[in-house]
Amino acid sequence: MSFTPGTIWQDRSVIVTGGTRGIGRGIAELFARQGAAVALTGRDAAAAAKAAGDLARATGGQVCGLGVDLRDPEAIEAMAAEAERRHGHVDVLCANAGIFPEKPLRALTAADIDEVLQVNLRGSMLAVRACLPAMERAGHGRIVLTSSITGPATGFPGWSHYGASKAGQLGFLRGAALELAPQGITVNAVLPGNVRTEGLDAMGEDYLRRMTSSIPLGRIGESSDIAHAVLFLASDEAAFITGQSLTIDGGQTLPESLDALTTTA
Ligand code: NAP
Repeated sequence: MSFTPGTIWQDRSVIVTGGTRGIGRGIAELFARQGAAVALTGRDAAAAAKAAGDLARATGGQVCGLGVDLRDPEAIEAMAAEAERRHGHVDVLCANAGIFPEKPLRALTAADIDEVLQVNLRGSMLAVRACLPAMERAGHGRIVLTSSITGPATGFPGWSHYGASKAGQLGFLRGAALELAPQGITVNAVLPGNVRTEGLDAMGEDYLRRMTSSIPLGRIGESSDIAHAVLFLASDEAAFITGQSLTIDGGQTLPESLDALTTTA
């Protein structure tokens, strides 16, 4: 039996899509605090550079910001090339960026569906593909997708297109994990429940209050709750885990019924 001495994060180069705020910012911050070189992305290059500068100052880490719209395949290819040029290699991809516009099924247009699938599903797939040459050159790789409980485990009125995109990510990761296993590249996903971010705050106080009451651990998640799970799945210690998804939801998907939340044994 052998135990790994622990990941030397100073040797690792990490890309975090959607790292300008929310969960992605939390993931980028944790990697930067460990000493990894981080490239975070957002749609706007100036905003991404500012977020990266703020994070570098806060952590003392090596962080750069790249403007990448996940609807643009060429920009995604350029992202991987630029991260490799700046940091010498790409070891970890956190395919995190995503959008969650609410729209009831009856009102959904083809354009609404296309946009959510393009950013959340196609964008993650293309980001993975773009990073493969660099990971193959590095001789290893860790890919962690940010999916959701919505779609893979639960449904929510108004988010059928979003749920389809998030469940689709898991179908993708299983095939990708098999294809990439021979190269030592693992592909896993985190499934956050409700996590306090700018995106979630936009849903309003009433939504947040109702959600909190459905979470057995009694609070909305923090970006750091997700970031710690991503860090583990990206570590050397997780070398034997691939094709899996880890739910991080404070127990939200656990109760069999509302009774299970209110009845005490
Ligand atoms: P958020 O606060 O709205 O942040 C979204 C991030 O994605 C931003 O950095 C944004 O960057 C980027 N982004 C949006 N559209 C993009 C596009 N077209 N191309 C490239 N980047 C784009 O969201 P969040 O709450 O942190 O969510 C992050 C991920 O977690 C998403 O995949 C979401 O589905 C998932 N998730 C969130 C929750 C939750 O409760 N918050 C729960 C389950 C799953 P710019 O605005 O700078 O372009």
